Amino acid sequence: MDDLEAGGVVCWGLEWGLDDCQHIVPLNDMRPHDRTETCWCRPVADDDGLVVIWAHNSADGREDFETGRRKPS
Ligand SMILES: [Zn+2]
Repeated sequence: MDDLEAGGVVCWGLEWGLDDCQHIVPLNDMRPHDRTETCWCRPVADDDGLVVIWAHNSADGREDFETGRRKPS
């Protein structure tokens, strides 16, 4: 009920997809995400050498950190 009361703090879920890839998906997003690389949000692959992590994009563009996209490579 009060999932959004955190004042804009985004919670991200790390879940396994069906193909041995992990998916970082925004919780409580405006639209539900598929745990696939063909999700509507056009997730970005982040390969850390062990598994491929798909960083999903939230419907309202709030992802700015914690998605792994700013990880130094
Ligand atoms: Zn998605």
